Amino acid sequence: MPWPHPTKRTINAGWTYRSGAPHKAWDLAIDTGDLLQAVTDGTVLALNDGVRNNRAGYNPGRNAPSNWIVLGIKYQGRKAYVLYQHLSPGLKVKVGQKVLAGQVIAKSGNTGNSTGPHLHLATGWGWPTAADRYRYLRSGNTIFPPSKVFTPARPAPSPFPLPRGHVFGKSDGSSKVHSGADSAADAANVRRIQGRLGIAKTGKIGAYTAYRIKRLQKKLGIAETGQVGPATWKAFRL
Ligand SMILES: [Zn+2]
Repeated sequence: MPWPHPTKRTINAGWTYRSGAPHKAWDLAIDTGDLLQAVTDGTVLALNDGVRNNRAGYNPGRNAPSNWIVLGIKYQGRKAYVLYQHLSPGLKVKVGQKVLAGQVIAKSGNTGNSTGPHLHLATGWGWPTAADRYRYLRSGNTIFPPSKVFTPARPAPSPFPLPRGHVFGKSDGSSKVHSGADSAADAANVRRIQGRLGIAKTGKIGAYTAYRIKRLQKKLGIAETGQVGPATWKAFRL
């Protein structure tokens, strides 16, 4: 599933702050300037842009403006939304724009009531106006972890460069290099890999598949190429 960031991040604050005060969202430690992606398909309902990132360690206070995006989505057949906050200026989307899961929508940042670079990610019911974007905080509201609305990824514009001339290993251990379109046999191989990774079986190595392959390679302690050569193929035990 696509996280808002292409790599796994630590949740610094969840339902409550360490102080015990309610937070009802996730704070994910992410460096300023990292690309953030839509966690699911949606429509940009509202946003704020143009606020500069805070100086390191300086928090301008509770009511300081920040850059944020309210993404309107459907969850369990109902309208819901995802709030991305503390973004860097220069958002990649406009109000009314439809986005796909995995699409880059902003850069992470440190704007508003924030002391260090992080993403505040919250989910709530309904499609709020800009002014009502904190409705998830109101008592009596049903809240749920942001991850509930994450959808399985499919190839979409994303921060990962598409591998050129990617190598597909064959089950006999040989491999070949392709620079153009994938052959039918390769597509079948890619689907097997995707099945093994538990992601959408598109038959193409798109951005997300390449990313997942790299993660697997890291786990296996082999070169993180995002391509499937004999070593990776063997590791998959396909
Ligand atoms: Zn937060």
